[in-house]
Amino acid sequence: MAVPARAGNRRHCQRLLSWHVAVRAGCDRVPLRAGRFHQRGERPGLTEPSTGQPDRWPVVVIVGAGFGGLSAAGALARGAVRVCLIDQRNFQTFQPLLYQVATAGLDPNDVCSSVRGMMFRQANLEFVMGRVDRVDTRSRQVVLDGGSTIEFDYLVIAAGAVSNDFGVEGVEGYALPLYTLDDALKIRTRILLNWERANRSPHLIGQGLLDVVIAGGGPTGVEVAGALAELYGLLRRRDYRNLDTSEVHLTLVEGGDDLLAPFHRASRRAALATLREKGVDVVLSDMITGYEPGRVQLRSGRVLAARTLVWAAGVKASPLAAACGAEQTRGGRIVVNDDLSVAGLPEVFAIGDVAAAVGASGELLPQVAQVAIQSGKHVAHQILRRSSGLPAEPFRYRDRGSMATIGRNQAVVELPFGLRISGRLAWLTWLVLHLLYLAGVRNRFHVLVNWSWSYLTYDRGARLIQDRDRDQLERRLTKHDL
Ligand SMILES: Cc1cc2nc3c(=O)[nH]c(=O)nc-3n(C[C@H](O)[C@H](O)[C@H](O)COP(=O)(O)OP(=O)(O)OC[C@H]3O[C@@H](n4cnc5c(N)ncnc54)[C@H](O)[C@@H]3O)c2cc1C
Repeated sequence: MAVPARAGNRRHCQRLLSWHVAVRAGCDRVPLRAGRFHQRGERPGLTEPSTGQPDRWPVVVIVGAGFGGLSAAGALARGAVRVCLIDQRNFQTFQPLLYQVATAGLDPNDVCSSVRGMMFRQANLEFVMGRVDRVDTRSRQVVLDGGSTIEFDYLVIAAGAVSNDFGVEGVEGYALPLYTLDDALKIRTRILLNWERANRSPHLIGQGLLDVVIAGGGPTGVEVAGALAELYGLLRRRDYRNLDTSEVHLTLVEGGDDLLAPFHRASRRAALATLREKGVDVVLSDMITGYEPGRVQLRSGRVLAARTLVWAAGVKASPLAAACGAEQTRGGRIVVNDDLSVAGLPEVFAIGDVAAAVGASGELLPQVAQVAIQSGKHVAHQILRRSSGLPAEPFRYRDRGSMATIGRNQAVVELPFGLRISGRLAWLTWLVLHLLYLAGVRNRFHVLVNWSWSYLTYDRGARLIQDRDRDQLERRLTKHDL
């Protein structure tokens, strides 16, 4: 409930950020400097040129410290603006390597970096951990979980995406999506726990206990399937040598007639052949229409008896897209102008997975890291231009290529100018580029050591079942008599 404006309200105001970005808890006034309050509307903003004093610089609030948000924040480091970066987590996840956490190839902290650790050198930036529940564009403030608010002059929505179950029955309740670190750990725990259960009760193997279905033949589904096939090979050879797993199936289901749809035909063929060589059953031109534990229903009428369904079938924009009142298009993505400002809300920008940015020929840009990084930089420059009174520039995406790995020594890489490679050279290219893009020297070093160790020994060292995830899963397994 709003508290009426009066001098005593000061105690209700939290001065959370050192340079006094207003984090307000039911307070009508905005503290700009110790002991001095401005009525809302008096503070420097879009209409006033910023002065040389940092406490009069415009406030840029960035929601989301993923690829896009971090890139925007970094590009504002030398600008005459105050940056408030907000994320519901205090770390960034390098999603391209999440499938390796899910398949026990990498440790969780290899693919995550502390936001404070990455940004502490940036003097004009403060990080706030919290979930933004709502954006009030009229009063120019974001509302955090718990009700506190932060005012902005410019807002950058970089809240990414969430897994999309497309309304398929049973998926939300029982399938395992792969989007966050937590998702990856749940998949790892489920798979390893199932093997331990199979060891205790081998008769359950015939009921699909170790069978896994992966939904979606895009890069994530293909990478999960390839890595899972290698993990299963290791578990069979080393950890559970006495189990008869000859009837265990890993199945990848794709609705289209080929894998890796955006790739060239040659790359798609290479991916399909490699997965089949690794023993993955690839089902094309069929779709999952329903799931209950142990029973994956396909549109063709076929039923797969798998106890684990990994959902990599697609994403939709973060729910924040709807909560800010912006116009949305396919997949809930926010409609943006060509400078990436939100249609009808000139002081609000949307970037990365949450935005429906379009390319040179009007096509919707893909939800990939490069789009997020480049759009983050672009928006930062537009904000600096705008606060200096310069006109907006359109966003031009430069496609740097696509790649997907299908396990040891196998990848497909497509670079600009039609350059395509597959096999070992592509795999090495994939390794080097992922190492370069991974945040932090420590993480790069750890991942390099882990990969080298796995390559030389065929081992996957992160085969750990964590207590917390195990307890949760075991409760669910018992409930469904699994
Ligand atoms: C498994 C997987 C593999 C992928 N592999 C590749 C790949 O190989 N190559 C590639 O280019 N792309 C890949 N992608 C896609 C790529 O990761 C995304 O395109 C990219 O992360 C988008 O960046 P973003 O900044 O828009 O969102 P994200 O990086 O997802 O960041 C969004 C941030 O916003 C935060 N957030 C969300 N809602 C709120 C809220 N309400 N309040 C506060 N904070 C919030 C989240 O915590 C998150 O930190 C992959 C994605 C996945 C899921």
